[in-house]
Amino acid sequence: MEEKAGRELRVGIAGVAGRMGRALIDAVRARAGVRLAAASVRRGTASVPVGDGGEEEIVARADPAALFAASDVVIDFTAPAASVAHAALAAETGTALVIGTTGLDDRECRAITAAADRAPILMAANFSLGVNLLLALTRIAASRLGPDYDLEVLDFHHRHKKDAPSGTALALLRAAAQGRGLDPEATPAALDADRNGVREPGGLGFAVLRGGDVVGEHSVILAGPGERLELTHRAGDRAIFARGALAAARWLADRAPGLYSMADMLGLDAPGG
Ligand code: NAD
Repeated sequence: MEEKAGRELRVGIAGVAGRMGRALIDAVRARAGVRLAAASVRRGTASVPVGDGGEEEIVARADPAALFAASDVVIDFTAPAASVAHAALAAETGTALVIGTTGLDDRECRAITAAADRAPILMAANFSLGVNLLLALTRIAASRLGPDYDLEVLDFHHRHKKDAPSGTALALLRAAAQGRGLDPEATPAALDADRNGVREPGGLGFAVLRGGDVVGEHSVILAGPGERLELTHRAGDRAIFARGALAAARWLADRAPGLYSMADMLGLDAPGG
């Protein structure tokens, strides 16, 4: 992609009517060197004017092709089917794409991986710096505190969240599995097992809480003989995810096609970033 040195990076935002869409608009306006180039809403939704931040009047429409045509990089926190469609457009146009949507199934993840052959795509279940460090810490803790320490991941989110466990909880479980020498991809599926009865040694577990307006909280608990280690991250504001996604967009715009993670961007050796 021709570089934007000397000119502002043109950022497109998908799904501006959503909670994260609104946080992303604010983040773009607050950051130097980037400008809002285009925005979109879901098909069947009325167009929304978003240009009151000093930029030209921008109207968010249900026109994803126009979103990609106008942008150097598109940021997408929408819904799984939408993110797959956006990845196909990224591949068609070679436009960089940052995906924050969670709850994608294996087929949807494979479609995004395939699209990344033709465009740079960065996908992360969580764009906060603290959570990405927590992923690395979880892997270390799971490896150093062996199977005598029962490991549980807890996620607590607002009542509107659609997927459970959260994408971040799944990434934490993968990090823990990696620390324990288990197959990180097989582990989350195996966790659906009935939890009646005594706990198997060395296993990984999770619990999900939903309610109110909690932006996002994750704990990794290692409960061993006579002691318990608890690692907790609390997100107080969606702005942290928006700022992280925007930093990722800036980094991604200069990359070759491929599928990238926050761990790649931050230089943290953690899985599932
Ligand atoms: P939300 O429901 O408030 O917003 C989603 C928006 O996407 C809605 O306005 C919806 O109309 C829109 N949308 C759906 N399909 C679309 C399409 N084809 N084109 C354009 N817009 C479309 O949800 P939210 O709280 O903003 O979260 C969105 C996603 O981001 C969820 O999957 C959530 O789990 C995830 N999320 C990720 C992180 C992270 O750091 N990775 C942080 C917060 C939320």
